[in-house]
Amino acid sequence: METGSLPHARRLRIAAVVLLLAWFFSPRLQSWVPLWLPFLGFAALEAHFLVAGLRERGTAPGARGRSPQPEDIAELGGEEWLEPVLVRIDGDDVWLPGTGKTDEEVAELIEESRERLRRGEPPYEPEEAEAPASRPFRRRFLARVEGVAVLAALAFVLFVLLRDGGWDGLDGAERARTEALLSSQAQRIAGHEARVHCDAEGEAVGIVQHADGLAEIGGSNAYLTPAICYRLHRLAFEADEGSFSQTARAIAVLAHESWHLRGEANEGIANCYAFQSGVSLGRRLGLSERTAARMMRQQLADNATVARSAPAYLVPAECRDGGSLDLAPGRSPFP
Ligand SMILES: [Zn+2]
Repeated sequence: METGSLPHARRLRIAAVVLLLAWFFSPRLQSWVPLWLPFLGFAALEAHFLVAGLRERGTAPGARGRSPQPEDIAELGGEEWLEPVLVRIDGDDVWLPGTGKTDEEVAELIEESRERLRRGEPPYEPEEAEAPASRPFRRRFLARVEGVAVLAALAFVLFVLLRDGGWDGLDGAERARTEALLSSQAQRIAGHEARVHCDAEGEAVGIVQHADGLAEIGGSNAYLTPAICYRLHRLAFEADEGSFSQTARAIAVLAHESWHLRGEANEGIANCYAFQSGVSLGRRLGLSERTAARMMRQQLADNATVARSAPAYLVPAECRDGGSLDLAPGRSPFP
């Protein structure tokens, strides 16, 4: 059984690793299949191999219904054991290797065995007794180590790398706390009551190609993607500044939607104001003044590139230090 099931186990292991890699690089696969599902299946498979291996140890090999495999022959002690001869020496039943031997040679073997038995040694000791016995053991041991190693790697990926479950991984109270904070920040910019929704269903946000957020012009409801909300949650509540450009983008989006709530309908102008308000907004969310300002300057610098595919979002030429869209004309740098 062991000889057949181990290559099988290896094939399954390779398949599991390939599937895992595919899962990592395919967001579509990630949305279809939760990672714990294949992991659970793989863990059950591994446990099965382990239990089967332990059970097999110590039990006599059963009838196989097929000719001996090279491994079996090696385990027996070599080709010469293919046709064993059962002889009776001094009242003991003794098996001797008889393959390809003449009657005379067998008679010699019997004589040698009788001598060995008299000296209290085993009746027959093949010259390479060690190698054939240890090879299958090593093979089995390596296979088991391989299984445990793959399982450990999967567990590491699942519990360490992917423990961060994003917005969906937060409980209700954490989400409510985040939405309340973002609402109060939006309110400061809008100048009136504001309600920020982290639209986890993707119903409100994501319909428009370039939108990480959406807001009623002059109204009180704004919608952000879960990814933007989660980034701001990490910054505000976990003191995690995250990746520079992602955090910069998240702050700029919240500020942008807040300017829509305030009544600004023009996307380019909303961006220009957002990059300026984003400095104090970022500071209130936990960044240093210097980092927040650097982030907003980066957003402004990247604006032309980002706006290439959506020209409405390009900031007007007056969006500069001392320009008509400068919210603090007497102050430098900009933003
Ligand atoms: Zn907008």
